[in-house]
Amino acid sequence: MKIMPNRLDRGFFMYQEEFEHKAIEVLRSGWYVLGREVEAFEREFADYTGSKYCVGLASGLDALWMAFRILGIGAGDEVIVQANTYIASVMGITINGATPVFVEPDEYFNIDADKIADKITDRTKAVLVVHLYGQASRMEKIVRLCKEHDLRLVEDCAQSHGACYQGKMTGTFGDIGCFSFYPSKNLGGFGDGGAIVTDDAKLAADMKIYRNYGSEKRYYNKVVGANSRLDELQAGLLRIRLAHIQELTGERRELAGRYQEGIRNSKILLPCVREQADSVWHQYVVRCEERQKLIDYLDVHEIGTIIHYPIPPHLSEAYNYLGYKKGSFPVTEHYADTVLSIPMYNGMTKEEQDYVIEIINRF
Ligand SMILES: *Cc1c(COP(=O)(O)O)cnc(C)c1O
Repeated sequence: MKIMPNRLDRGFFMYQEEFEHKAIEVLRSGWYVLGREVEAFEREFADYTGSKYCVGLASGLDALWMAFRILGIGAGDEVIVQANTYIASVMGITINGATPVFVEPDEYFNIDADKIADKITDRTKAVLVVHLYGQASRMEKIVRLCKEHDLRLVEDCAQSHGACYQGKMTGTFGDIGCFSFYPSKNLGGFGDGGAIVTDDAKLAADMKIYRNYGSEKRYYNKVVGANSRLDELQAGLLRIRLAHIQELTGERRELAGRYQEGIRNSKILLPCVREQADSVWHQYVVRCEERQKLIDYLDVHEIGTIIHYPIPPHLSEAYNYLGYKKGSFPVTEHYADTVLSIPMYNGMTKEEQDYVIEIINRF
């Protein structure tokens, strides 16, 4: 049996008729950018997250860098972020000329909340929390720290659509929650897409201006903005996925539960689940000291895997200029050397999963 790490086609076929019907409806409408579908999606996604406002954008990276831009964070400012994240989180900071200040993760792959305070300086302007792999971070502590030190709080929810901490949705704890709708995300479109959510009317209004060349009124430009608009086709298709998100998340939780129960191998560490933080299992990430052997072994049995992520941002060539070296963040680097995401996707069959479990247990 050949098993790929992800199967986006399965997610399409689950609701094929609805997607195709909506695509044709949008194509025939004659209106393709920032229209009724985007407005409806923004309202529905704001409601889903429990936020007052949602602004649709062209990508998750845009959501991040434009969040810091409208918060006025730039050159000379520092933003605290976990060291073990996808590089886009860090680019959201550095595109604005601000400096990322890295913090090591805890055993849940989230920012270690106990290590944040030590990194706060008089240049610190914000904390960027990444709810990595779908699991909410320790928000009560982080929110308190940000209040005490008068810091902005931005959440990178590109992997955590629907994940809650103490019953409250990720993306709603701070000033701005940033989402991606890249096809492989839990709420994925059929191309690029993103959004921010916020309870602040001014920030929502600023973002709407910013995403459209800095203009509210056509050809009257208030600021040098960007072109970062969610298109009607993506918004329409995302509305369909959003209408099914409970089922989709439920299915991921079942899949994760079966891995948690079924995988029994002393060489493989299963992901830890934080109390009061429910994961939406964007990835199912195990750890293995003999990772390359495991990858090769699974490969022989036609099971595909992915490393999220092999090179932490502080060691990537793009961030040479920050001056870090191997050893700067040992926990992060150890994770980068040992993590492995095993197949996990909506529409995965029981037979496929049983096969993965059986093969892994024989490693
Ligand atoms: C995917 C992702 C992003 C970027 O989203 P894009 O839509 O691909 O730009 C940012 N942060 C994290 C944690 C991600 O997983």
